[in-house]
This record gives sequence, structure tokens and C-alpha cells, in this order.
Amino acid sequence: MSVGFLIDMDGVIYRGGELIAGADRFINALLREHIPFIFLTNNSQRARRDVATKLQRLGIDVNERHIFTCAMATARFLADRKPRGTAYVIGEGGLLQALHQNGYSIVDHDPDFVVVGEGRTVTLDALEQAVSLILGGAKLIATNLDPNCPTRNGTRPGCGATVAYLETVTGIQAFSVGKPSPIMMRAARKELGLLTSETVMVGDTMQTDILGGVQMGYRTVLTLTGTTRREDLDHYAYVPDTIVESVAEMEDPLAFLRTRLPKGKVEDDTVRLPAMA
Ligand SMILES: [Mg+2]
Repeated sequence: MSVGFLIDMDGVIYRGGELIAGADRFINALLREHIPFIFLTNNSQRARRDVATKLQRLGIDVNERHIFTCAMATARFLADRKPRGTAYVIGEGGLLQALHQNGYSIVDHDPDFVVVGEGRTVTLDALEQAVSLILGGAKLIATNLDPNCPTRNGTRPGCGATVAYLETVTGIQAFSVGKPSPIMMRAARKELGLLTSETVMVGDTMQTDILGGVQMGYRTVLTLTGTTRREDLDHYAYVPDTIVESVAEMEDPLAFLRTRLPKGKVEDDTVRLPAMA
């Protein structure tokens, strides 16, 4: 069976810096059985190596190739749209590094794009500068629109809150690349070389992970270890294909797929092209 997993991290693998019980067994089973997977995160603060290190310290034996961040998706999208462009950035190391690696220069005036990511470096001066650059013609790009992020002590404002501020002031709507945008959802699938019908999205947030998966025609697994409770599902017009209390239920991934996510639900509209001679 050809299959692979796109896996959210916060609320799925760990919560508040602590491993969710059984998540290591799920990931270790994927590694042991050579089932392709990639972690998909809307946090643009850290570079992929930093994220891999965090997971390693929680006992999950992965490397940078297993990490796909919205900062990477955003930088690749911009490089594709305008190679060797310029950006004014409200964000941190992960976003700056991804932009640099994709040929972008970080500038303070006359940028092609104002790019907004996660971070603790937002100041009124930086917002005011961004406003004047956007009104001057720079395109407003969001790494994601998550309004807030759960923390050990409660909730902190997310990238989406900063973006909403800039949208309100300028009257200009941002373009967002992170989950549930098809740009990031598709890029992650292609990173694993999977077809649509072979792709399974696992996440804890309906508005990003599950919505993104549903829109792409992937099979979706909602885990209840994060932001969503079972009773919340009544509020949504879309549903996940299956729900687990935690990914510990997926420690035998192939048996899980056979019993809980039978194939054939979606018609595949992706095709493998023959190799060029
Ligand atoms: Mg999450």
C-alpha cells in the first residue's frame, strides 16, 4: 500500500513542550515500516533544523527532511512568483533563514513584499513601517492566519492577529500561504512524492489541518489531544474522515489505515508523469 502522512505537531505530537503519550510509538512505527511522513507546522519562528532538534529531544528520531514549515512554503512561493525579490519581514529566524535560502534579500525600504510571520519581535514601529510600505505598493504576505497559539500558560497572539492589524489599517487583504492554503498542503504532498489519494493529514485543528486536508481531497484524521473537542464538531460544515483520542491509536499505522481509513473515498486527480528519457 502506497501511503504517506502529513502530521501537525503542536497538539498532536507534543503539547506545551511535553510529548503526548504514544506519539513517539506512532512516529517510530512510521520510520520502522518506511512509511513516508513529514511534519507540517504553521509556526514560522524556528528553522527546520531547530524543529528537528526539539523533536529529537522529545525522543523522536527525525531529521530536517521530516520538517516542513509555513516559512519554507512562503519563501518557496515567493521565490517562484518573483525570483531574487526583496522582503520587509516581521518575524523571526525561521522565516528570515527560509527567505535567504530561497534567494531573497531582507530590506527596510521599497520591498516587493511585506512578509508577516510568528514572533515576539513585533513593535509599533515595525507595524507602522509595514503599513507605509504596504500603502506604497508592497504586497502583504502572511505565513499563516492562525489568530492565536496555545502556550504552557494560556494563549499568545498569533501571526493572524498581526496580519489582521495590518489589513485593518491599510484596507488591503493579505495573501496567506500556510495551512489550510492549498499552496502549503500541496507542496508538502509533493515533498513526499505522493498522489492525492495516498495522502493522509493528521492534525488537531479543524480550521487549518482538517480544512486543508478536506479541500485537497486527502484523507483526514482529527486527534483530540489539542485544540478541538468532540462536541466542537457540530459547528463545522466539514468533518474529518476519522477521529482518534490521540495518535497512540495509530501505533500500527497500516492496520489503522485498513480499518479506519479505507481507500477509494476520493477520486484521484493527480497523475504520475513518465520519467523523461
Ligand atoms: Mg496543532
